[in-house]
Amino acid sequence: MYLPEEIRKDFPILSREVYGRPLVYLDNAATTQKPRCVVEAIMDEYYSVNANVHRGVHFLSQQATDLHEAARERVRTFLNARSTGEILFTRGTTEGLNLVAYSFGEAFLSEGDEVILTAMEHHSNIVPWQILRERKGIVLKVVPVDETGQLDMNKYERLFTPRTKLVCTTHISNVLGTVNPIRRMAKTAHSNGAFILVDAAQSVPHTQVDVQETDCDFLTFSGHKIYGPTGIGVLYGKESLLDRMPPYQGGGEMISRVTFEKTTYERLPYKFEAGTPDYVGSHALSVALDYVEKTGMENIAAHEHKLLQYATERMTHIPGLRIYGETADKGAVISFNIDGIHPMDLGTLLDRLGIAIRTGHHCAQPLMQRFGVEGMARASFALYNTLSEVDAFADGLERVRKMF
Ligand code: PMP
Repeated sequence: MYLPEEIRKDFPILSREVYGRPLVYLDNAATTQKPRCVVEAIMDEYYSVNANVHRGVHFLSQQATDLHEAARERVRTFLNARSTGEILFTRGTTEGLNLVAYSFGEAFLSEGDEVILTAMEHHSNIVPWQILRERKGIVLKVVPVDETGQLDMNKYERLFTPRTKLVCTTHISNVLGTVNPIRRMAKTAHSNGAFILVDAAQSVPHTQVDVQETDCDFLTFSGHKIYGPTGIGVLYGKESLLDRMPPYQGGGEMISRVTFEKTTYERLPYKFEAGTPDYVGSHALSVALDYVEKTGMENIAAHEHKLLQYATERMTHIPGLRIYGETADKGAVISFNIDGIHPMDLGTLLDRLGIAIRTGHHCAQPLMQRFGVEGMARASFALYNTLSEVDAFADGLERVRKMF
């Protein structure tokens, strides 16, 4: 039996008040709150283990290294990667995407080569490719999105040419909630001799992701969106590709031997991890992954689906409200607008009721342009949200609408 009221006890912040009202936190796609076990893991490591990793012979350094490398193994099993050499720690999704754009771009792309993006990408999966276009003269092609928020898969399949080298797609849209068919997209990419990079920032917190089953070549996510700390993320990459890619940054940790004439690099994954890593963050992330798996990914998905359905049902009764993203199998986000109300006003008034939602372009301006709006309001759910919070949110929307 899934009991969100019990789960909420693990998250101290959820019991605080905002403007004298109970906090209703519905901005989970931006970042999630942290369970006590994650915060305590950070505190415990700083209080009793802290030392720089990999370089020390002393006890603490070895213990910190063991925790850091155990976290890598934990991520490997979480994603079902073949080896820990395929698990790179990064600062987050954005850094993972930039790493691939830079390093894959350096190794595999030259002028006139084509990269396919989708119209629902986050800026983090657009701008690095535009920077690469400036540097190398690559060509960017975009898969369109239809009115319901689905990718046009026929168009996708027709975008490939012999120059297509890479597909970059989000797994779940942070705006529309659309779950893209990444397995099918990977198959199409591979049959055209191209690779695929998956932005899993919005999927790993809500659904099981298996990199071998989906056969993606790269996949990246952020710790802070899956109840872990901010400042740590993961890039998965197939060893056969990472081996052929140059380092993204130079510095300590990533070298085998340095002379002024020539430097040789460390084996994977260290070749891509210059400088002192966030070894406290990696351990805390592994604790967050344990927490999620203990709660059960299927339980989380089922609970969030219930919240989403109930919220959608309540919102469809509000006159003038339009929901963006209407696919049946959606992630736990609802983006919307209400006629005659600026999303910013909506967000500000809900905030006064203690309800935290996000408003604006959601780092997806091309998608806003696609739907002909400046911005949208967005509510996003997590494992600790409740049906009564959905009621508070929908009541709040009705109240705000009546004010205009
Ligand atoms: N991609 C998607 C789909 C996202 O939702 C986000 C965060 N909003 C990012 C990338 C960027 O993540 P981060 O800021 O943690 O690097």
